[in-house]
Amino acid sequence: MAMIGVQEGSDMDLDLTLEAVYEGILVSGSVLVPVTGECSRCLDPLAYDLEVDVQELFSYEEPSHDGAAAGEDEEEQHWIEHDMIDLEPVLRDAVVTALPFQPVCREDCQGLCSECGIHLADEPGHHHEVLDPRWAGLQGLTGKDSLTES
Ligand SMILES: [Zn+2]
Ligand SMILES: [Zn+2]
Repeated sequence: MAMIGVQEGSDMDLDLTLEAVYEGILVSGSVLVPVTGECSRCLDPLAYDLEVDVQELFSYEEPSHDGAAAGEDEEEQHWIEHDMIDLEPVLRDAVVTALPFQPVCREDCQGLCSECGIHLADEPGHHHEVLDPRWAGLQGLTGKDSLTES
């Protein structure tokens, strides 16, 4: 279950520089995307802009399809095809990689009470008078044969 992501159709704010280098075209810059999701601690909805640095080289050389040269890392490479570069997979990868595994609404989010599920941030000092079952057992013991009263 993805707790965070970029909504389909969101506008990406691109700030990219295309540089002609010997091997091809170097794309570098940053992307700003609106991210939505929910806090992994308190489940509150989240929405913020994520800025991701991008740097990718698009090579002039076509990938060789003669089998032998096809390596595991072939998909890591990007190529200029018909004088066009396809930025979408590059940007998608960059954004997905930058998304947090455990998004939080804020760094010090205290999450939810494990007993009743309220937001702990809403009620400072919130706690329950729940006795540890081990102590409860001890109480029963001292209640029956009290060692202090004799
Ligand atoms: Zn939270
Ligand atoms: Zn509670």
